[in-house]
Amino acid sequence: MHKLAQLDHAHVWHPFTQMRDWLKREPIVIMSGRGAVLRDVYGREYLDANASIWTNLHGHNHPKLNAALKRQLGKIAHSSALGFANEPASQLAAKLVEMANGKCRMANRDGARAKSNSQLTKVFFSDDGSTAMEVALKLAYEFTRRTRGPGTKPRFLSLAGAYHGDTVGAVSLGHVDLFHKAYGGLLFKADQVMAPYCYRCPFNKAKPERADAREYRKCNWECVGKVEAKCAVARKRGNDYAAFVFEPLMQGAAGMIPQPAGWLKRVTDIARGHGALLVADEVMTGFGRTGVGEKVGKRQSGIGARTHSPTFPPAHFLTGSATEGVQPDFLALAKGLTGGYLPMAATLTTQAVFDAFLGEYEEFKTFFHGHSFTGNQLGAAAGLASLELLTGAASIQARVRLEDDLRRELKLLWELPNVGDVRQVGLVAGVELVRDWRTREPFALAERAGIRVCEAMARRGVLTRPIGSVVLLMPPYCTSRAQVRQMVGALRESVEEVFASCDRS
Ligand SMILES: *Cc1c(COP(=O)(O)O)cnc(C)c1O
Repeated sequence: MHKLAQLDHAHVWHPFTQMRDWLKREPIVIMSGRGAVLRDVYGREYLDANASIWTNLHGHNHPKLNAALKRQLGKIAHSSALGFANEPASQLAAKLVEMANGKCRMANRDGARAKSNSQLTKVFFSDDGSTAMEVALKLAYEFTRRTRGPGTKPRFLSLAGAYHGDTVGAVSLGHVDLFHKAYGGLLFKADQVMAPYCYRCPFNKAKPERADAREYRKCNWECVGKVEAKCAVARKRGNDYAAFVFEPLMQGAAGMIPQPAGWLKRVTDIARGHGALLVADEVMTGFGRTGVGEKVGKRQSGIGARTHSPTFPPAHFLTGSATEGVQPDFLALAKGLTGGYLPMAATLTTQAVFDAFLGEYEEFKTFFHGHSFTGNQLGAAAGLASLELLTGAASIQARVRLEDDLRRELKLLWELPNVGDVRQVGLVAGVELVRDWRTREPFALAERAGIRVCEAMARRGVLTRPIGSVVLLMPPYCTSRAQVRQMVGALRESVEEVFASCDRS
């Protein structure tokens, strides 16, 4: 075993990992990376098919990001945001605000009214997705207490299967029993409501087909009705929800659960109508992961342009909520914020929320929250460079092509009887494995169907991690057509290999 692997075995405790299994074999030790390729200590190469747990955008060792970091290193790596401002954090905050409000600004040409209360103008920096959500949660809680008056007990509504991070507040908003149940005693109670999981929806009357369940589902939007009902009950109790918390377009850790078009708009309208703030957790979906958006993509690739005005910059499509025309009150960003280079997160919110924390010093309305590395210069420099890449024409074109490539290759998976659902949203896809697609019969978690398929993929030089029986693909944006083919090809062969032996037994 390699010396580094021995050290790892001796001392490193890995996240979300049964360490007894881990210690049974030599781990892959990554030494370097370039583009979508990771290289281990033995010089073996792998495709990074989950973008290093959903963080990497432009590929590894990107010359522009490297250069931006080196430039920043020549000045300073870190000084505290407690008491001081700094160059890249100020600039990044301005860019994030621009990115988050594009759509809103357009709407404002007709009516400036929307501007004052729904624009995201303030940025609170922290370190990762969980902390970005803690900040949103605490701000929403305190804002609600201050605006609804003392005695208010703010409550939150989030989606079934929700995952918002692993700190105690974020876990409270989550509803993944496997991860969260053990900590029940530590948590506050948040209500959950049905998420639109069309493939396994009890209201979907359609028989299984060889297509994304969202397309052929037969239902009456009962999932929207459930949100309405929850909000109505809260109102009857005399305690409207303080906030509705959601991942736009696709719930990631829940198992890559995509939302049918229009769902988000409907449910957020309902929640807002009942006085709830909207908390968009775009830790996974942010920064273009959910696709470029049809209109922008077509214009950028020169195809027939049914577009908005030329002043409508594509940056608006960097969030899933913008794609659905939803303007949240809180926007949590992390994973891809630095292009996957450094841990950094941001929680964006409105002037109204900000104002509720203003007062004389001795009123103690201050937001008493912060982290040592808040506003870190290296992270912010990487974030700025990443945003510049993202909004450039080359990246947009590459993402349009990548989305098409992925769609084309994923189609081939429908031939496999153990593939029940293939769900793609932009540049992320989940493939749900089942015993038989005709019955949708699931594998038990203990059968480790997803893990076995991913292990077989690794033997083929493609690295990703499953969520239960869902294998996910989330290629870095620089992934070439040939590499997409290799990723999906490895998935296909691995499913065939793993379940061929299982049929025979
Ligand atoms: C990963 C993730 C988080 C948590 O982010 P960390 O950086 O791991 O703390 C929160 N929400 C969503 C949607 C995520 O995908």
